[in-house]
Amino acid sequence: MFNFMNRLQTQIFAFFVILLLAVQSISFWMSFNSNKQLEQQQLSNQLAVAEVVFQAEYENRNYYLSAFAETAAKDFGLKDIFIDGDNRSFLVALNNHRKRINANLAIAVSAEGKIIGELVANRSQGREKVALGSEQGHAFRYSLATEFENINPLYLLDGKLYQIKFSPLTSGGSSVIGWVGFGYVIDDKLAGSLAQLTGLSSGFYLNAATAQDEQKSAVPNTNPEASVLGQFIGHSEPEFSHELQAIVVNYLIQDLRHDDYIFWRQSLGTVDGQHVFAYMFQSVSDVLQTLEQQWLKQIGLLLLLLPVSLLLAFIISSKITRPIKQLIEQAKFIAKGNYDSSVDVGSSLELKQLGQEFTLMQQSIVSREKKIAHQAFHDPLTSLANGNELNRVSSAWLQQGTSMGLCLINIRRLTEVNLTLGHAVGDEVIKEFAQRLAFFSDRALVCRISGDEFVLAFESLATEQVASLMAELQQQVDHKYCYHDIMLHLQFTAGVSIFQQGIDLVTLLRQADTAVQHAKSNKLDYQIYTPEIDSNTLDRFQLINELKHAIDSDELVLFYQPKMCLKSQQITHVEALVRWQHPKKGMIPPDVFIPIAEKTGQMHGLTHWVLNEAIAQYHKWQALGINLGIAVNISAENLKEDNFCEWIITLLQQTQMPVSALTLEITEDAVVADPDHAIAQLKALKMHGLKLSIDDYGTGYSSLTQLKQLPVDELKIDKSFVQQLMTDNDDQIIVNSTLQLAHNLGLSVVAEGIEDKATLTWLTEKGCEMGQGFYLSRPLSAAAFNEWLAKQSV
Ligand code: C2E
Ligand code: CA
Ligand code: CA
Repeated sequence: MFNFMNRLQTQIFAFFVILLLAVQSISFWMSFNSNKQLEQQQLSNQLAVAEVVFQAEYENRNYYLSAFAETAAKDFGLKDIFIDGDNRSFLVALNNHRKRINANLAIAVSAEGKIIGELVANRSQGREKVALGSEQGHAFRYSLATEFENINPLYLLDGKLYQIKFSPLTSGGSSVIGWVGFGYVIDDKLAGSLAQLTGLSSGFYLNAATAQDEQKSAVPNTNPEASVLGQFIGHSEPEFSHELQAIVVNYLIQDLRHDDYIFWRQSLGTVDGQHVFAYMFQSVSDVLQTLEQQWLKQIGLLLLLLPVSLLLAFIISSKITRPIKQLIEQAKFIAKGNYDSSVDVGSSLELKQLGQEFTLMQQSIVSREKKIAHQAFHDPLTSLANGNELNRVSSAWLQQGTSMGLCLINIRRLTEVNLTLGHAVGDEVIKEFAQRLAFFSDRALVCRISGDEFVLAFESLATEQVASLMAELQQQVDHKYCYHDIMLHLQFTAGVSIFQQGIDLVTLLRQADTAVQHAKSNKLDYQIYTPEIDSNTLDRFQLINELKHAIDSDELVLFYQPKMCLKSQQITHVEALVRWQHPKKGMIPPDVFIPIAEKTGQMHGLTHWVLNEAIAQYHKWQALGINLGIAVNISAENLKEDNFCEWIITLLQQTQMPVSALTLEITEDAVVADPDHAIAQLKALKMHGLKLSIDDYGTGYSSLTQLKQLPVDELKIDKSFVQQLMTDNDDQIIVNSTLQLAHNLGLSVVAEGIEDKATLTWLTEKGCEMGQGFYLSRPLSAAAFNEWLAKQSV
């Protein structure tokens, strides 16, 4: 119901209905009022007309009677007979006169006041019957001699009321010899003709006079009929009910009006002490009958108009709301995801505009939805597909039962880029990397799934294809990238997993991730997932548990790799490199367990062991007369310790190892994590005379100018720039410029990874201070080293 009332169409319809009702009620009220006025006018008009008509008729009769009485009085013949007293012929003559005006009464009165002729004419059944009046020969009731001028024009005779007029009969001049008079009866006939003229019921009423009236009356009340209180002596209505009679009498005598009737009355005077009234009346309903009919017609018209206009209002309101309904339908249609149809809601300017706006809105929803959909399935930074898209596409592939393969690619050292050069540069590196990977988009879905992780998803990939794929990847990705004045070497580590029956995307991704981790910890460029890697991972867990024991129980061994002074071609230093001689697994390389030690807080113990071992070896060599400086690798974890510096100094003092014989090799990344703290530590070490060397130089992202701030003595150019030095022109440029810059900064340079003689010669020529590498010797146990050294001096 509420819904229904709330609907626009209902509201418009309601508005029309209210408007209509208001207009109709106003017009009804106005016509009702004017109708009422018209009624009043009609009623008063009717009465005014009635009065005029009555007056005219009544006066006319008076005038006619008196004029004729005068004429008759001048008739000599009549006079003669009157004087002669020939009664019979006089009556005949009198009747003749009467007939001429159709009078109902003719009276002749002698000078003495005696009625000498009284003729009453009665009409019945169309014939006139004339008879002598009952007063023939009697004295006339009115005194004509004295009161002729004021003679009452009304006369009652034998129960009938007459309207009479007299004229004196004179003889020989002016002596009055008698009177002659004529009268018309006041009766139903007169009432009838009045009624005909006025359209009202008419009549005459004779009412017994009040006592007061009687006293006033000059004429004694001699008529026996006057004792009757009142009577109708003429009436136009054939049926004049007692009820109606009572209403009329009430009006005439007590002036009591009745709502249903209009009345008019006139007192015609008194006769024999009784009042004579003329009256007219009519029922209001009769007068107003035509008006009422008109009124009914009007109401009928209004009532007829009402449903018609309601129907019109309904049609209009539904027409107005139709476009809105159409738009609602369209909106529902759009909500279901249909965007193609255009909206046309009508021909008016506004509706057209609305339709256009609606279509526009539809289109912008489409484009926004596309954008959202794109965002949901794409990485905003690189515009490559994201994890959702990978999920979507590979789910389809997996459903079809394909042999899909994933290649998870990790950008190396992106965290360092972010930390040293800022995230803006990091983003640029990611974008560049993405662009290089996009090369594969014709064969694979290229996705970025997290910060430095990308995926190449192949619908079908076989293990045999991986090697060539990786070579191609290497070629596309693994080369330098120059951002402003910074040269960055974009490298990656990849893990490949290939679909096996019964696994899902999550597992496939996890396997690729395991492969990546394996490649990383084995310093490989890539690794294909095999179940053995997982067991390796398992091994890693075991190693974690066993490492502490290994440190405590001397399962670790130090190997030594010589560092040669290129100028003198003498072995002046060694680098101490730790190995784990595992009782079951054999020799474990440091790349496997050093990261574990770093992550499990065992670096202090490990470095402690290495340093002790190296110092012990130093003393052994000293005892053998071999003077070698020893370089020990220090992890970032060590630099985080607050008292690391004190600890080393104390250790050197305790073991009586000369500070100058020890070099600490620190990678750039060790400084990056907390530069202020690291620099403070390094400065303290340097202050005590320790030699500091930056290890793996060139793989990190610190520039030489940044290195200037570090209190170091030596740069170790990373082996990746040295191993192919003779074949790679870029490497030569890098190594050469590093040498120059380092020398400008007063640093000596060590090149590691020398694997051939040419490289050694090249470096010697370029003025590199020291060299290290398999060409000289692999890292060796102390005993093997001693042997090797002995051979060298030969
Ligand atoms: P590093 O400090 O860069 O050590 C040099 C690594 O390069 C050694 O691997 C060495 O065997 C290898 N190498 C030397 N010359 C050549 C060459 O001509 N060609 C090739 N291909 N490789 C060469 P190693 O001994 O496996 O050590 C790996 C890494 O483990 C070291 O890299 C170092 O970062 C870490 N490490 C080793 N011992 C310790 C240690 O006692 N303490 C700490 N904190 N880290 C250590
Ligand atoms: Ca080193
Ligand atoms: Ca190194």
